[in-house]
Amino acid sequence: MKPKSRIVNIPVYQPGKPIEEVKRELGLTEVTKLASNENPYGSAPSVQQAIAAELTQLHLYPDGGAVELTAELAASLGVTSEQIIFGCGSDEIIALITRAFLEPGDETIMADQTFSVYKSNADIEGAAVHEVPLKDGVHDLPGMLAQINDRTKIVWVCNPNNPTGTIVDEAELVQFMDQVPSHVLVVLDEAYYEYVVDGAYPQSIPMLSKYPNLVILRTFSKIYGLAALRIGYGVGGADVIKLINQVREPFNTSRIGQAAARQALRDQNFVQECRTKNREGIEYLTGHFERLGLSYFPSQTNFIMVDTGHSAMEVFQSMLSRGVIIRAGHHKYPTYIRVTVGTARENEIFIRALEETLQERTAAV
Ligand SMILES: *Cc1c(COP(=O)(O)O)cnc(C)c1O
Repeated sequence: MKPKSRIVNIPVYQPGKPIEEVKRELGLTEVTKLASNENPYGSAPSVQQAIAAELTQLHLYPDGGAVELTAELAASLGVTSEQIIFGCGSDEIIALITRAFLEPGDETIMADQTFSVYKSNADIEGAAVHEVPLKDGVHDLPGMLAQINDRTKIVWVCNPNNPTGTIVDEAELVQFMDQVPSHVLVVLDEAYYEYVVDGAYPQSIPMLSKYPNLVILRTFSKIYGLAALRIGYGVGGADVIKLINQVREPFNTSRIGQAAARQALRDQNFVQECRTKNREGIEYLTGHFERLGLSYFPSQTNFIMVDTGHSAMEVFQSMLSRGVIIRAGHHKYPTYIRVTVGTARENEIFIRALEETLQERTAAV
């Protein structure tokens, strides 16, 4: 067999460790997973009813264009249906954008510690990836601008950034967009949009009328609590969205996903509650980080990155042995872990395990 040469060394995506696997391997009855930025409050009860109502229709193909869902989302965002594309998670929209835009020899720009799916897809298409160092965990937009040349096709701005949880504000983003040449597509990934509380966060949708080279990504996987259903979307100019649609598979979202997303959009009370409880969780965690003398990046998301002062991989293993799964292995930040904000109880379990781990590590040094 002879695969495409450029895919041979691409690593397989490493997800957070599954709970059942950890329980089995370590013989634990209770395991707390705070590794994949899932919503600890599940999804809205009204959404579960909408899913149940769809169960009699599973023999029918979904509406490939997600027409009704698209119309409802368009109305709520104040854009037209032609400006929206749905995908199998926003992960798929990222893949479709690279499929539609990147060829071998093209260049693409992203932060040096950001969502890994941008790079893996750019690698698959054979584009050269330029990684611009974050500054204090924040996207360096002027630094990214300075990397743009005639071969640049896409700049990726993850806002808030995964894994640091930080944002660029509206003034910085507008200044950046004003200087990006029109031949360069800017992909603004707002997977955590609904969690943001900082008033300086960009109102990106109104910016679309000014910048035809802007595409915004959002998802139902995070605050809406529908990660299992794989449904996310892109919003941009009708011309760009049409190009992305041209490389989309015919039935890339499911009936259940579409039905759930429609109801989820209508149930904004659930979103509001989750945002509030998440902020309380962030405050609880940062309070303890300060008590423990640990520095962290200011988070506008449902996760937070904290400097343990020890090897993050060792901290990961030690936390795991205590039944708590978090994320480590961020090449740029070898002593930082990323933890998802859980329920109040899960956050307490995490802090207890972290404190024990730090005492153990400090004693071992
Ligand atoms: C979780 C996440 C996504 C996509 O999630 P989907 O489940 O594929 O919609 C996209 N971008 C970032 C930064 C994320 O953290």
